[in-house]
Amino acid sequence: MQNHNTVEKNATAEIDVEAWREKCRQERDKRLREDGESQYIHALGDFSEYADSDPFIDKEIIREPLTDEIEVVVIGGGFSGLMAGAQLRSRGISSFRIIEAAGDFGGCWYWNRYPGAQCDIESYVYLPLLEETDYMPKEKYSFAAEIFEHCQRVGHRYDLYRNTCFQTKVAGIEWDDESSRWIIRTNRNDAMKARFVMVAVGVGSKPKLPGIQGIRDFEGPNFHTSHWDFEFTGGDPGCARWDAKDDGEGGTGKLDKLGDKVVAVIGTGATGIQCIPYLARDAKQVYVFQRTPNTVSLRGGNPETDPEWAENLESGWQKKRQENFEDVVIGKAQEDLVDDCWTHLFTEAKAFMKRAGEMTPEQLMFEAEVSEYKVVNRVQKEIEQLIDNQEVAEALKPWYRLSCKRPGYNDEYIPAFNRSNVALVDVSESKGVEKITKDGVVANGKEYKVDCIIFATGFEIAITDFKTGIGFDVVGRNGVSIFDHWANGIRSLHGHSTVGFPNWFYIGFSQNGFGLNQGYMLQEQVKHVTYIIDEAIKRGAKVAEVTLEAEDEWVSIIRENSMVNRPVLESCTPGFYNNEGHLRGGILSESYALGVREFNKVLEAWRQEGNLKGFMLKK
Ligand code: NDP
Repeated sequence: MQNHNTVEKNATAEIDVEAWREKCRQERDKRLREDGESQYIHALGDFSEYADSDPFIDKEIIREPLTDEIEVVVIGGGFSGLMAGAQLRSRGISSFRIIEAAGDFGGCWYWNRYPGAQCDIESYVYLPLLEETDYMPKEKYSFAAEIFEHCQRVGHRYDLYRNTCFQTKVAGIEWDDESSRWIIRTNRNDAMKARFVMVAVGVGSKPKLPGIQGIRDFEGPNFHTSHWDFEFTGGDPGCARWDAKDDGEGGTGKLDKLGDKVVAVIGTGATGIQCIPYLARDAKQVYVFQRTPNTVSLRGGNPETDPEWAENLESGWQKKRQENFEDVVIGKAQEDLVDDCWTHLFTEAKAFMKRAGEMTPEQLMFEAEVSEYKVVNRVQKEIEQLIDNQEVAEALKPWYRLSCKRPGYNDEYIPAFNRSNVALVDVSESKGVEKITKDGVVANGKEYKVDCIIFATGFEIAITDFKTGIGFDVVGRNGVSIFDHWANGIRSLHGHSTVGFPNWFYIGFSQNGFGLNQGYMLQEQVKHVTYIIDEAIKRGAKVAEVTLEAEDEWVSIIRENSMVNRPVLESCTPGFYNNEGHLRGGILSESYALGVREFNKVLEAWRQEGNLKGFMLKK
């Protein structure tokens, strides 16, 4: 065991830990809001236009309401829905239907076509079913158009189009005990019946808006990034690429209608940092309203895929790479296959894990904390070097632990603030933008008159606000709504099933393993749930329902372990990882503390047992 003083010496070189703690505490307190998650407005009712308009549909589908019976209904046609369809098809289950609100597959990659939209982690680990579809992304980080195209590819490869009802929104589902079936009602007056239902609506698919006073008073164009108004900005989804070329008619390569426009962007999360450089390049003036600085490092370009490397990959390479990525992130890998900005950052942050065996849990926690400060300190120094005006650089510096928010990587974002047409407006003191008027945005007592407001304010995270996150009611046995059933917190076996909701499965952030690569995280959940459905069908079961005992056991594992994360989450600046500082219901406060890789091992061992442990089957 290492002596505590040695550990402290190793860890603290270059860092004044107490000063960092104090500064982070101050920065957190400045942003903590009493109203927590309810500071946001759901894109529903009067605000539904921010989420409902679909400019990508060629024509509306006209069809008769469906009242037929199917074996499995999958709600959602994004990554999880597509992977579910592929799994069901491969398992020989042909009676299934996917229900999707949009006009095509893709989920968030159908909607998010804003300039710069791109997967921010490596495409080779993020895009689903690359080996199965024999497809290799063109570059290390695919742009949105390629990801959307890949979703269509998966749809064709597994012949999912004929099993899918597009432009159809589920209005509610209800369990009918007598027939042991779910009734699925939609906005098209459908009342389909299904033995099994899988809710795969995505982990953050519903846009959310900030509850800023006067938000409806603004008279100019304003939209959420997931519903980008190309009519107003010019350009088209093809100009999402930094290197997009003009099509000769002045259209494709630029947001060509912004040359004389003043634009406000509210939000500097993963989306904000991707679209702001394009606005900076093309608009007359951009005001970026920043509440919390993102931890943004340079990404180091976007290399094209090396064909020789791609040709020589061995079967099973994608899963191996995905697992390796998650292992690197937690400091448990011997090699680094992805070898990029993400893995370098986490290798740096988790270097102390090599000495983990010699440390007490307290020492480990201390090393983790200091190590995260050191990495953020390095990012701060990078910002200082990239930014000409040091006042702006100070405002761009993050002051929280690396694990508090999803870090960002972008080569053009930080340098954009050196441009004379870009102004950073720090709104941290007022805990967000103060007010919106008919002409613009008010911050720090000053009105910024603008032609357009863009909300890069993120999405409802289903676990935090389950009701709006999934967007429809789920009524189980005895007329109990899932929202009442989970009113005091999620209760589940492995995050996907709960007592009183037979044959019902949930895919997403829940009481399961959180993975930085959501493509991988969802893939393994889908694999597990389709296994259960397949086994239940093979065993002739009409009903598969979790036992209270199994659920209790899993809930206590989650709750006990979540205490380990608690001090870290409490110290964090508000965000969706910690439910805006209120913890309960934040993604990380409910997840399996040992992470996605260990969680997947739990699932694998469970499948190996082969007896659907914790489920009651009724024939
Ligand atoms: P986020 O929730 O991460 O960011 C929202 C932003 O809006 C934050 O900067 C937030 O500030 C700010 N904000 C909210 N309310 C106000 C207010 N009243 N005044 C001023 N600012 C405000 O949303 P994103 O859309 O950026 O990202 C969501 C998730 O989507 C990501 O975490 C990621 O998982 C995913 N994503 C993935 C991509 C990929 O490549 N795979 C690409 C883009 C997104 P504050 O931080 O202070 O709350």
